[in-house]
Amino acid sequence: MKIKRLIIVLTLMVFSVSAFFSTDLNAAKGGKRPKNIILFIGDGMGVAHVYSAMSVSERQLYLEMFPYSGFQITFSANNYVTDSGAGGTAIACGVKTKNGMIGMNPDSVAVTSITEICKKNGLATGVLSTSAITHATPASFVAHNSGRGNYEDLAKDFLNGTVDVFIGGGENHFRKRADGSDLTLELKKQGFEVVYTLDSLKLSKSSKIAGLLAEEHMPTALEGRRGMLREMTKKAIEVLSRDKDGFFLMVEGSQIDWGAHARNLLEVASETLDLDDAVGAAYDFAMQNGQTLVIVTADHETGGLSLTGGDLQKRSINGEFISTGSHTGEMVPIFSLGPGAERFSGIHDNTYFFNEFLKLLNLRK
Ligand code: MG
Ligand code: ZN
Repeated sequence: MKIKRLIIVLTLMVFSVSAFFSTDLNAAKGGKRPKNIILFIGDGMGVAHVYSAMSVSERQLYLEMFPYSGFQITFSANNYVTDSGAGGTAIACGVKTKNGMIGMNPDSVAVTSITEICKKNGLATGVLSTSAITHATPASFVAHNSGRGNYEDLAKDFLNGTVDVFIGGGENHFRKRADGSDLTLELKKQGFEVVYTLDSLKLSKSSKIAGLLAEEHMPTALEGRRGMLREMTKKAIEVLSRDKDGFFLMVEGSQIDWGAHARNLLEVASETLDLDDAVGAAYDFAMQNGQTLVIVTADHETGGLSLTGGDLQKRSINGEFISTGSHTGEMVPIFSLGPGAERFSGIHDNTYFFNEFLKLLNLRK
């Protein structure tokens, strides 16, 4: 009798312990539908770029704790090798387009982005980058233009009410314009608080924030930017998560690509680590929130990076890039956690995300 009771008590204990863990596990592994989606894009981040960061890091990467992973096929409408305009547009709008285009199909007709649809459905929205916010990747989620280099036109599209929070570089495209206008005046009329430093960003109490933290692009992580993207991500989550309808946030680690173009392995690893720092902010939020899908992927691989040797004890790596230092057509990784995360394991086209996001968030187009 006593033994029987002990067994029951023990069983109950095991039950409640496993029930406790399974809540956490469900938050990580998904199954249900998400209320919020946080999408990270490491520009140019291939598998070797991720492993370069893992090899030199003093801590385990957050990426290593994601329960699901897969691969993304990145070709564009007119090239086996995509640029960030066509890659960003495919992810944001679910449409393959020509290299160099932003939020348009190959016939130069504007296509609707997930950000615009989320806003229309009442969700809060945001985009963050370490490049100018008008650069190809963030612009693909907000703007429409047949030329990715038309920064001043792309900046104007940030006045269209698509995003509540945008933070990155690019102040000059809003304030030192050929047409002489200062777009921040219009932003303020629309209720945005416009901030120019990380400190004032952190202090902002506004539900609409335009953060222009550099005149052009932000500095590299090695030049002292390390950790800023994490702070930007934390702030954006704090602001956007106040919306009872949920939120969509895109966060770009813009400069992994530039490190690879420059064939600078240390820069690639440090920019990837910096992105992982920001992923950590989303990871922590998603674990505690339980209704947030977090996806980390890339728009394409840059540099044809191969890791040719290294020493994991000394955290040193050797690597080689292709001589042109340009983009390649290789598949890139996808990491996912949270409700719906399982749908991103396997091999998927870059247009897959848009349609899955619509279904998972139950959005009307
Ligand atoms: Mg980019
Ligand atoms: Zn590039």
